[in-house]
Amino acid sequence: MAGTPVAVALGSNLGDRVAHLQAGLAGLAPLLDDLRVSTFHDTAPVGSVAAPTADQPRYLNAVAVGTTRLSAPDLLTHLLRIEAEQGRERPYVWAPRTLDLDLILFGQARIDRPDLTVPHPRFRERDFVLAPLAELAPDWIDPVTGQTVADLLAALG
Ligand code: ADP
Ligand code: MG
Repeated sequence: MAGTPVAVALGSNLGDRVAHLQAGLAGLAPLLDDLRVSTFHDTAPVGSVAAPTADQPRYLNAVAVGTTRLSAPDLLTHLLRIEAEQGRERPYVWAPRTLDLDLILFGQARIDRPDLTVPHPRFRERDFVLAPLAELAPDWIDPVTGQTVADLLAALG
């Protein structure tokens, strides 16, 4: 058994962003086989009307893909641990963060739990997730829309 293919998005906009992404990748390495990593993308912060981010520092974003024998909830627990090890605090929604790790895709699974939604509910609107993911896995099919990652990225224009 090869395990389940997974995609994890990494983001940082506080402190040494490259070091935080590299620490995140080092944390992922023992969890994922056949680990592949996108280039690092420097991006503008995205928030909402309720939580404006215009005054926040820019992000550095990347995506990692690999396969895992962990369950999705167990993988999420590890992601939250790795974030905490990088000093992640959550003073408010969309606060600047040393390291954010989001589980984007878990094979073709659809998960809807209070603490875990997969595919990640907002990844289709996020250029900063789709662009690095498309470097690695353009043909991955989103189980919700049936569209490929490349289709979703093209739809953003
Ligand atoms: P965001 O990444 O949206 O800015 P946080 O990183 O603060 O928000 O995550 C808050 C919570 O989101 C986590 O504690 C986790 O339980 C939940 N969550 C739900 N689905 C996912 C997912 N696919 N990947 C990561 N976290 C998720
Ligand atoms: Mg997150």
